Amino acid sequence: MANPQRITVAGAGFAAITGLRALRKQLPEAELTLVAPLAEFIYLPSLIWVPFGMRSGDDLRYDILPLLAELNVHFVHASVTGISDDGRTLHTDNAENSEIENDALLIATGGRFIKKLPGIENAITLCEGIASAERIGERLRGMAGGTIALGFGGNPKEPSAMRGGPMFELMFGLDTWLRKQGKRDAFKLVFFNPAPQPGKRLGEKAVKGLLDEMARRNIDTHLGHKIKSFENNTVTTEGGEIPADLILFMPGMTGPAWIQGSPLPLSDGGFIQADGMARVAGMERVYVAGDAGSFPGPDWMPKQAHMADLQAEAAAENIALNLAGKPAAAKFKVELICIVDTLDKGMMVYRSESRSLLLPAMRAMHWAKSFFEKRYMRHLPHVKG
Ligand SMILES: Cc1cc2nc3c(=O)[nH]c(=O)nc-3n(C[C@H](O)[C@H](O)[C@H](O)COP(=O)(O)OP(=O)(O)OC[C@H]3O[C@@H](n4cnc5c(N)ncnc54)[C@H](O)[C@@H]3O)c2cc1C
Repeated sequence: MANPQRITVAGAGFAAITGLRALRKQLPEAELTLVAPLAEFIYLPSLIWVPFGMRSGDDLRYDILPLLAELNVHFVHASVTGISDDGRTLHTDNAENSEIENDALLIATGGRFIKKLPGIENAITLCEGIASAERIGERLRGMAGGTIALGFGGNPKEPSAMRGGPMFELMFGLDTWLRKQGKRDAFKLVFFNPAPQPGKRLGEKAVKGLLDEMARRNIDTHLGHKIKSFENNTVTTEGGEIPADLILFMPGMTGPAWIQGSPLPLSDGGFIQADGMARVAGMERVYVAGDAGSFPGPDWMPKQAHMADLQAEAAAENIALNLAGKPAAAKFKVELICIVDTLDKGMMVYRSESRSLLLPAMRAMHWAKSFFEKRYMRHLPHVKG
């Protein structure tokens, strides 16, 4: 194989940044290229604090150019649009770099939300990014009272592809925020979910803990009914209607749009199909990490930043092995670590193949979540202006 070896990473989120760091460690001489629409990293887990003014959108935007310079990574300002030649060529929407050749590829372009339910535009999806989180904050500040319906859905073809944790955080945070302002009595909060036991992936104990917390906070529940549609002031499920002045809903997830129609193998739920070593099925030296992929493992395997990091590290190790003419050997660990924040406290949930743990709400866990953000982001500056 030609020297130096050319490795392309697509995306600029958790999986991509961790992948780049790990690749540079493994392969000091390799030519690394990053392809992403913006040279920005968004710290998504702290989006839950934006509606309540505890973070601004700019607090979560980090400039990755200094890191790319330090790691000697060439940045291509573009969105990936496809791949060809068994993964050896990446296609982009940048006319000057419309085809990028590689000796190994790491795909880390994240997932997206399924926006098929009729009237979905009447609901706001926090996880879509900073603009959505800011919109929720504006709506909340403009309300003196009323009903707020909060829920999340899944991907029927891939049950693990859901993002429930942040919805619980948004709901408990909202309750705390309203109480702190003495406005809670003017609001009715309703949690809706098609599953009778929402949050089951976090473990049986966690489901009970979450439902008990909702009862303690006087949050109504509408559980076990398939969601049919949304209207301006109504959520309609097979079990009836929920009138609501504001609807906050997280749909199930699927893979990135650009992989549709590409030669990449797709899972039933529309993600890039990979194995337990983050290798894309049936392709050589093509890897996927994070929310873009579908991986074998326990049904509770989360789509989380921590999993994205573990997958990216395994992918980098395997790319280094492959480029040295050896077969992939690094398997990623499956681990769920989550602090369900309530604005002033946090419940910690941990799950691995051998252990499962739930710590009740504690003030220390709220601070731990904030501390973790600062520690994780300590090497990146904020985007200026
Ligand atoms: C509100 C919220 C709270 C969360 N809380 C937690 C938590 O507490 N703990 C936890 O572990 N996880 C949490 N998560 C989940 C976590 O943020 C995701 O699992 C993680 O971001 C996945 O990383 P990723 O790199 O796969 O994708 P992303 O972080 O989504 O990054 C995808 C990247 O790809 C880029 N991209 C997109 N399309 C293209 C394209 N066509 N070409 C090139 N680049 C492209 C994007 O610009 C982005 O830079 C939370 C998520 C949200 C939204």
